[in-house]
Amino acid sequence: MTWLDALADKALDGSLPTREEALAVLRSSDDELMDVVAAAFRVRRRFFGRRVKLNYLVNIKSGLCPEDCFYCSQRVGSAADVLKYSWLKTDEVIATAEAGVAGGARRVCLVASGRGPTDRDIDRVASTIASFKARNPDVEVCACLGLLSDGQAERLAAAGTFAYNHNLNTSGGHYADICTTHEYADRVSTVDAAKSAGLSPCSGLIAGMGETEEDLVDVAFALRALSPDSVPVNFLIPFDGTPLAGQWELTPQRCLRILAMVRFVCPSAEVRLAGGREIHLRTLQPLALHIVNSIFLGDYLTSEGQPGAADLAMIADAGFTVEGAGNPSAVPATLAPSATLAPAAAPPVSELAPETPRPDLVHVRRRGAGTTLPANT
Ligand code: SF4
Repeated sequence: MTWLDALADKALDGSLPTREEALAVLRSSDDELMDVVAAAFRVRRRFFGRRVKLNYLVNIKSGLCPEDCFYCSQRVGSAADVLKYSWLKTDEVIATAEAGVAGGARRVCLVASGRGPTDRDIDRVASTIASFKARNPDVEVCACLGLLSDGQAERLAAAGTFAYNHNLNTSGGHYADICTTHEYADRVSTVDAAKSAGLSPCSGLIAGMGETEEDLVDVAFALRALSPDSVPVNFLIPFDGTPLAGQWELTPQRCLRILAMVRFVCPSAEVRLAGGREIHLRTLQPLALHIVNSIFLGDYLTSEGQPGAADLAMIADAGFTVEGAGNPSAVPATLAPSATLAPAAAPPVSELAPETPRPDLVHVRRRGAGTTLPANT
């Protein structure tokens, strides 16, 4: 039995790996990469079979945030040319969210920029969620509105909200290097508040922000301690105009190792491949489906993902099935890239290596919520 077989057995028993074992996954060689993926797949298959859950993001308030999260294109002082708009109207939110549902999403994630909602904001979002749920009773709604004050999680739950997302993002030790306007402990408290209100806790991380391997293990263990039902794993999209612009420190292989480490630490959690998958995993995205059991369909909050139809084709080609989707009605016959994508020139082939920065793959979102163009589903 190899050390990876033993690690998978441990995860299947629901036991935590040691820190050394988690670090060993991150430090494993490219020669061991397929063994790492295969071991993580044993765990993924036990809890989720070959199903992939689709989630759909709707940015219901974009940009102009007073917080300074260094990774975020919506932060105070951001020069990133992202869409900026205040709260979308209920019918706009519903139309965009339903486009995601038509594409196969079983969960819609309503996300607003800002430190946290006022009570009036909660009224507005709760009303929107209640209207959406009346039309789509079987679709889970996750809210992501920032730090919550007393009683707000309960009011969201009462409106029919299923889950609340608030990411830890990185380790407690690294937190001050990625944000100075709020603290790691604030984030932990909000996840706890959501859980106490009966909302399904969703909390994850962003890799590629200058953290060490120890930081990645720390945040994975901290997430496990919070018992989140879902764990989104993002890979930094280094937007121009943000403090982390130009920071390209991930390779497709490293992304797979990070996902596998999270799977071993949180074996039965919904591990969700989130922002940055297209630009960092690139052609290795289908391999990640053997580790994660959930992805976002289509676009992200401020950046464009690959066409939703390409997501569905990738899942089918890799031999997985979309969870609970029945017959997604929005699978187009073609996989033509979005007309709004105007790719920058790729690096010359002679320069392409796993560690080559790929700013040509970063596209600011110009369609869907807050625009007159159809959503990418
Ligand atoms: S991550 Fe959220 S709180 Fe931080 S700057 Fe972006 S929108 Fe604001």
